[in-house]
Amino acid sequence: MDKMKIVILGAGYGGLRALKGLQKKHLNAEITLVNKNEYHYEATYLHEVASGANPPERISFAIKDVVDTKQTTFIQDTVIKVNKDDKTVELDKTGLISYDYLIFALGFESESFGITGVDEYALPMVDINTAVAIKEHMHRQFAQYEATKDDALLSIVVCGAGFTSIEYLGELTQQMPKLIKQYNLPADKIQLTCIEAMPTLLPMFVEKLSTYGIQKLKDRGVKFLVGTPIKEVTADTVIYEENEERKSIKAKTIVWTTGVKGSSVVGGSGFEERRGRVMVEADLTAPGYPEVFIIGDCSAVMNPENNRPYPTTAQIALKQADAAVANLVAKVNNQPIVPFTFKSQGSVCSIGNNEAIGEVLGANLKGYPASMMKKVIEDRSLSQTGGLKIMFSKGRFDLYH
Ligand code: FAD
Ligand code: NAD
Repeated sequence: MDKMKIVILGAGYGGLRALKGLQKKHLNAEITLVNKNEYHYEATYLHEVASGANPPERISFAIKDVVDTKQTTFIQDTVIKVNKDDKTVELDKTGLISYDYLIFALGFESESFGITGVDEYALPMVDINTAVAIKEHMHRQFAQYEATKDDALLSIVVCGAGFTSIEYLGELTQQMPKLIKQYNLPADKIQLTCIEAMPTLLPMFVEKLSTYGIQKLKDRGVKFLVGTPIKEVTADTVIYEENEERKSIKAKTIVWTTGVKGSSVVGGSGFEERRGRVMVEADLTAPGYPEVFIIGDCSAVMNPENNRPYPTTAQIALKQADAAVANLVAKVNNQPIVPFTFKSQGSVCSIGNNEAIGEVLGANLKGYPASMMKKVIEDRSLSQTGGLKIMFSKGRFDLYH
């Protein structure tokens, strides 16, 4: 009998976890994993690379280390489109590959909301290349200061105050003393501004926690503008609205972290979507396509408690990967599927290497204990995508000494 063809698109949290789960099942199948890079990166650490706290190698590992070549072929290529009615995938260099089952896990892209100038002038943080680009851009600005004395070179605006922005600012403010020394900068002229559209900062946490976190960043020199939606970006200016009045800040480094959408391959392949996310069926397949599982940031699953989709996180992507593998195996064996359900374990937002705020299993945590908890969660997640060997080489064990 011909082997069944299972194709996994994307080797992020969802894709790699699904691969590991499938390989353990030893199905009579040819598994193909497609990813644009030969490495997996832990997207949850991108802010560390963008701030210069850690190099890219610290947050990534070779995909071949988790591929069982007896069962799986890894193709390093870019996915252009899924032809869902023909059950084929179009790859940039390889051309067409076919599948019987597809696990679609291409992750997230930056959301510009169509705001003028964002695509041209602001720096997104969505993968290793863009995180490195933020760091290198900032260094180039700082390097020019001594000769030009242009204050805009020392001004950094972080757009949005979601977790990505806060975690980036946490690391960046801890790197700043080193940068000031390296480029001989006047510390009093460094300007770090975070601009948030909504009236409240970190509203997902109880006030005591969010105030604690925000105060830490203020103490390290960050200025917050709140209730001030950004309207436009130019090469050296961020324009926002405050009390219906347009105002602006000069900055040569503009970091765009105002939220994410699912991969544009979702819409490009004709799936019904909103902001790149498909509202998946209970078994995590796309409506009308029972052989196409969509997981991670490209999928949306309703939280019955508030009737809104769960936020896109690595936490849910990992759980969906396990559920998609279980349901794929159930379908192959003509067994009933198990509807996907999710219970969030909470969330922790870092404010630098050794400080965080968070709510885990109903407990509110702040400071070093919260940071320790985050590292434990991250090490566990690394073991789930990479395995124990990778966890021991790349994990965060500084909490143990
Ligand atoms: P991804 O992890 O984004 O993986 C997608 C993969 O597909 C990547 O390897 C990418 O290279 C590849 N790919 C994309 N397009 C193509 C293409 N066209 N062709 C081939 N390959 C392609 N979540 C948490 O739960 N906890 C956290 O602490 C946390 N911290 C975060 C910190 C930051 C700075 C950011 C940005 C996000 C954080 N998140 C966190 C969210 C989390 O990173 C995402 O929800 C998660 O990465 C989504 O997993 P995924 O498998 O859907 O996609
Ligand atoms: P987000 O959507 O969570 O936050 C973006 C912020 O930008 C929001 O507060 C939004 O109001 C603001 N914003 C949007 N448009 C704006 C505008 N025009 N002007 C000013 N502000 C604007 O996005 P994110 O922080 O990139 O996070 C993406 C996903 O990844 C989320 O689901 C998040 O939970 C997850 N994440 C989790 C962690 C963690 O658990 N530690 C860390 C980072 C990201």
